[in-house]
Amino acid sequence: MTKSENSYYNGSSMKALNIVPLSYSLEALEPVISRKIMELHHDKHYVAYVNGANAALEKPEKNREVMRDFSFNYNGAKIHEIFFANMREVRENNLPSGKILEAINLNFGSFENFQKEFSLAATSVEGSGWAVLWKDTENNLTVGQLEKHNLLGLNGMTPILVLDVWEHAYYLDYLNNRAEYVKQWWQVVNWDDVEQRS
Ligand code: MN
Repeated sequence: MTKSENSYYNGSSMKALNIVPLSYSLEALEPVISRKIMELHHDKHYVAYVNGANAALEKPEKNREVMRDFSFNYNGAKIHEIFFANMREVRENNLPSGKILEAINLNFGSFENFQKEFSLAATSVEGSGWAVLWKDTENNLTVGQLEKHNLLGLNGMTPILVLDVWEHAYYLDYLNNRAEYVKQWWQVVNWDDVEQRS
């Protein structure tokens, strides 16, 4: 993914978005994430962000409210595209290797430290939001959180691994046990995709 595709909101981002289909079937992430959740999450929530961004673009007057809608929906669409691509079918002992493992070790000391830090970021988001692994322009890695998803655009910071902890992402499967969702989610992280972004 190139920097401009990845993107945070800026002038050049103001063009219509297309719906990106999943690269796997709706049930591919079971039993970690059910088909029902993926169906709602991709085909309803994500598609609504794409449509919302495009609807805002079509408004003739780009006033504050329209731009707010555009930013919310554009960032919502983009971060979901990363999230869906960051996952694949369950693998036992699903661990990073190669370049991404080296980068994690360099920045966090060990994979275990990173996993702990990222999980804590995910479980402690207040309300709706995301845990994010960012890389900066010098490829340093940082773990952070996003409230809702409107801050996707920190200048120079590229999200390479994101975890959606809005209730729609897990409630049907895990009810209020977000920590269990976060724990199980590590089995479906697509480390090849994360490495490509790093
Ligand atoms: Mn979501």
